[in-house]
Amino acid sequence: MSDFDFDLFVIGGGSGGVRAGRIAATHGAKVGLAEEYRMGGTCVIRGCVPKKLMVYASGYPGQVHDAAQYGWDAEIRGFDWTKFRGKLDAELDRLEAAYRRNLGSSGAQIFDARATIKDPHTITLSTGETLTAKHILVATGGWPFVPEFPGSDLAITSNEVFKLDAQPERVLVVGGGYIACEFAGIFHGLGTKVTQYYRGEQVLRGFDDEARGHVADAMRERGIDLQVGQDVASMEKVAGGIQVTAKNGDVIVVDQVLYATGRNPNSTGLGLEEAGVSLGRKGEILVDEYSQTNSPSIYAVGDVTDRVNLTPVAIREGHAFADTVFGGTPRTADHELIASAVFTQPEMGTVGLSEEDAREKGPIEVYSASFRPMQSLFAGHEEKVLMKLVVATDTRVVLGVHIVGEHAGEMIQMAGIAVKMGATKEDFDRTVAVHPTMSEELVTMKTPTRTA
Ligand code: NDP
Repeated sequence: MSDFDFDLFVIGGGSGGVRAGRIAATHGAKVGLAEEYRMGGTCVIRGCVPKKLMVYASGYPGQVHDAAQYGWDAEIRGFDWTKFRGKLDAELDRLEAAYRRNLGSSGAQIFDARATIKDPHTITLSTGETLTAKHILVATGGWPFVPEFPGSDLAITSNEVFKLDAQPERVLVVGGGYIACEFAGIFHGLGTKVTQYYRGEQVLRGFDDEARGHVADAMRERGIDLQVGQDVASMEKVAGGIQVTAKNGDVIVVDQVLYATGRNPNSTGLGLEEAGVSLGRKGEILVDEYSQTNSPSIYAVGDVTDRVNLTPVAIREGHAFADTVFGGTPRTADHELIASAVFTQPEMGTVGLSEEDAREKGPIEVYSASFRPMQSLFAGHEEKVLMKLVVATDTRVVLGVHIVGEHAGEMIQMAGIAVKMGATKEDFDRTVAVHPTMSEELVTMKTPTRTA
């Protein structure tokens, strides 16, 4: 019989925390979990899920336009933001209930409260309760960061964007990362006039240069006013909107300004420092490969640890933690060769090394094909897709795959298996093409585009 109220107390009801709590409970642990907002966390409530539904919503006008090119008598008459919002809210309610039900049915107890750590085995809840636990898992995710400047309080972030009462007619998106580029595409597809400011030279820093250049060109071609080397100096409310003055002196008036300038680990005010837990420079909780902090009873998974900030990674980390501590099978989450997608329009899917990173490691061959796919060519589009393999010259191993085009996210999931298995260029070559598809290009590229 334990001296503690719980074997495990989880702070945070997002993807990582819920997976850890559920698996620990199935291993027989007595589990409590506190969530201060809504079960499901960023991914379900204000991230991946509502974002993807908005990506779908924003794609229909283009599809209807193309349908007309294929002979259909079809036209788009307008987007009912209120109707979409209602359906979105209902879907998020359904998913939140499912999260709650699944965790509850594993035997875990859910507290709708904010939890703080009093000491390495004690939790205080905002309801006034104090609880003890043998192990504490912090899975509190991240929080959007907005730099401070005159008028910065007028900006919204990805936290608020799903709750707007009306569709803005004009939006300024600030940032050049995943969220900024995805929302530029979403709003543009919905019919909003989109301007995007990015301070650097090219958006999607860190991804393969050729692939991100391809995405940026296509975003501009589709009608987004993407400005690089551009940043906001100040903003003020004026009649009819928000007036934004850029650092180069440009002035625009828009209805909303969406800041997507990164996310910070959500670690403040949790009592971590008081409990002796070491934090990094950005406030990330420092953990070892088993997600254990320097305070042995306290663990952390997901974005709050700022390792690889993606939902499936947090889930893997949470699961590995629960198996290690409660299942008697110590194991770590694998952070190598994680395939991912950016739901820009067109989409980008990527796994492994960019051409630039691979070049640093040794001689490479690059196979790159850019072409107009038959479906959209028939509908009159000039936009090209990009299929690219980065191959190590010596070992022939495919070090990276980069795809830009419709359904790139779906394609890269499959390519990711081959890359994870260590497939060589010759393995790709001996795979017979699926015809006619876009991705057959991945197995039919014979001559390197360049070597380095
Ligand atoms: P990112 O870190 O991807 O991008 C932040 C962007 O903001 C960069 O372009 C950065 O510029 C810019 N920036 C940072 N600080 C400032 C500043 N002070 N002034 C102006 N610009 C600034 O963050 P996101 O918010 O887009 O996404 C957060 C995380 O969420 C990502 O790391 C990702 O892991 C995850 N995510 C994943 C998605 C997916 O898998 N599809 C979708 C959405 C989010 P610079 O490049 O110069 O640093």
